[in-house]
Amino acid sequence: MGWDSIIGQGRAKEILQRSIEQKRVAHAYLLWGPPGVGKDALAIEFAKTLLCDRQESKACDTCASCTKMHILQHPNLKIVFALPAARSEKNNDNGEGKFQPDIREEIRSQIAEKAKNPYFHFEIPKATQINIGTIRDVKKESSLAPYEKGMKIFIISDAEMMNDTSANSMLKVLEEPLSDTLFLLTTSRKEKLLPTIVSRCQSVRCELLTDADIERALTERETIPPEQARLVSRLASGDYSAALGLVHEDLVSERAEAVRFLRATLSGRSVTLLEDIEGRIAENDRGAVDQFLSLLLVWFRDAMLMKEQGVEGIINQDQQEDLLKFVSRFGDANFPASIGAVERALELLRGNVYLPLVLLSLSVQLKRILLNAR
Ligand SMILES: [Zn+2]
Repeated sequence: MGWDSIIGQGRAKEILQRSIEQKRVAHAYLLWGPPGVGKDALAIEFAKTLLCDRQESKACDTCASCTKMHILQHPNLKIVFALPAARSEKNNDNGEGKFQPDIREEIRSQIAEKAKNPYFHFEIPKATQINIGTIRDVKKESSLAPYEKGMKIFIISDAEMMNDTSANSMLKVLEEPLSDTLFLLTTSRKEKLLPTIVSRCQSVRCELLTDADIERALTERETIPPEQARLVSRLASGDYSAALGLVHEDLVSERAEAVRFLRATLSGRSVTLLEDIEGRIAENDRGAVDQFLSLLLVWFRDAMLMKEQGVEGIINQDQQEDLLKFVSRFGDANFPASIGAVERALELLRGNVYLPLVLLSLSVQLKRILLNAR
């Protein structure tokens, strides 16, 4: 709890805390930066601090207001996020009330999840945008007196999900600031927001998290075993929300698949290899191939480290024996070149190049790099 519960983001925390200390809280902030780095977490902590009875730059975490904030059920707080399309645009009451009970239940359970873990990313099924109905509610509520003492705070999570109508309506709200109302917009795609909205907000940039930050958070908060935390942090690319998702994936068997791909490549069993690749493509999931290549990358980095300095610092600690075998067999190979080949494949993949081509070409390159050295 408290500002300490936010991973990294020292600069952003300082800006927000200082604005409270100096009593210069703006009427709107835009917290922007890469996905999964804690923008919503910062917004929630900032809101909690401002609503806390203590009225200092740190929330007390015990008062009645903080208690309500811990479950994200403070009457002065509204969290806005993308919801499924409105059933009827004619109906002015497009707020939560119009949804089927199952969607309302989903919304409630996702807010409860967010309260437990501010790094949780809202994802209501079929939610494609922040609807005009939602922004109309914001407009209406912002014009009313606060339910409890203190200000009214609106967190607009993934603000780029506002459609044109919603964004224009939001702009009008921002153009007529009310003294007791605060808007906290978060986005990982600032370029998709109206420039006029951006210019109405005080901008707070959030940084990519380091692997070490993520590794520490996983072991300390989620009690993930150190070896797994290390592997996951390397695959998460600075995104803590992604890291939390990866924790639940069966990385061990996915890694085994990556190693199997490597073996098939090297043994020249092209039939097996093609089957492997086709299996991957059948899923038609670039995300899965991306993860598979990232695991391969970690494997080669480990092999290189193993060769240079032994087991110290390797990620796949539980694979020492297999790594050792690999290094003793291919130790003369140019590991930096194989790492480069996998990195290029990842780039091509992210650049939307035809998947089978990327993997086949990688396999040909790896075979050349690894076998030519022997
Ligand atoms: Zn408090």
